[in-house]
Amino acid sequence: GAPLLDIRDLRVSFPTDDGVVHAVNGMDLTLRRGETVGIVGESGSGKTVTSQALMGLLKDTSATVTGRILLDGQDLVPLTEAQMRPYRGKRIAMIFQDPLSAMHPFYPVGVQIAEAYRVHHDVSKKAAAAVAVDMLGRVGIPDPKRRYAAYPHEFSGGMRQRAMIAMALVCEPELLIADEPTTALDVTVQAQILDLLNELQAETGTSVILVTHDLGVVAEVCHRVVVMYGGECVEQATVADLFGDPRHPYTQGLLASMPSLAGTSGRLTPIPGFPPSLLALPEGCLFADRCPKAHLVPDGACADRRPVPAGPEGHPSRCHLNAQEPAQEVAR
Ligand code: SF4
Repeated sequence: GAPLLDIRDLRVSFPTDDGVVHAVNGMDLTLRRGETVGIVGESGSGKTVTSQALMGLLKDTSATVTGRILLDGQDLVPLTEAQMRPYRGKRIAMIFQDPLSAMHPFYPVGVQIAEAYRVHHDVSKKAAAAVAVDMLGRVGIPDPKRRYAAYPHEFSGGMRQRAMIAMALVCEPELLIADEPTTALDVTVQAQILDLLNELQAETGTSVILVTHDLGVVAEVCHRVVVMYGGECVEQATVADLFGDPRHPYTQGLLASMPSLAGTSGRLTPIPGFPPSLLALPEGCLFADRCPKAHLVPDGACADRRPVPAGPEGHPSRCHLNAQEPAQEVAR
């Protein structure tokens, strides 16, 4: 059937004192119901700005957003802040690295979950409280009736993350955006939270976009992956294809730098150099400055022309090496 979410050529830019920052420069992504897609990239790759655009958090800001974000066929890009409000929390919800940023310190956790429910449901406080207690139980918080009245600071980091997941899922959103949800947690708790996300996803059928810099996390929970670099989506594939046959030199570099895949030496091979300046994007491939394979492409094309997505069905990448007919590429 039709995908739940279809992002086409999303572009986001912001004016700053130094000039216009081009944070997202052509992002395409489709998400089916019940699917988990990872968006991977370094900081400054555009992954967080993409999720902010999805949540409509850039409405009423100085950001310029173009392209399409089709949720069930409805384009969210032209919606105003007021028109976006019924979506946020109800149809699209978000969890972050730091639950404290999503919670009020002076209200009990359970009350906040109940209130999140009441924003979109016309029910009594008592009925909403029952929903919240049930939700706390579903995310694995022990003794949920008692914990309902606890304050955020009385929870451990992992329990707080569970409570934020409860708050995000209480309205049964179709789409959950999880932005680095486990980055701040220790490894054991991280694994528990990822298991929980997997379970809840299987149970509710919610589609998940997982934003992360960690390919290990992607391997754990995602069906498909989008790799971002310089605000572009440089490669998209199933998890098996991305890890088994990475086609973009940047993805190849990321995989080579993963400790678990770097062989027994455990030595990391970080990609030398820096991402492109988003204030003045180069004409050619955004990875050209750092790419160890640019010399394989004839005629200096890497520096001159921006690659467009090409390659096998379901596994596009933006690299001249993967384009069958570079001469037929659409000029930008
Ligand atoms: Fe490297 Fe050229 Fe491919 Fe860009 S287009 S990733 S510079 S080989």
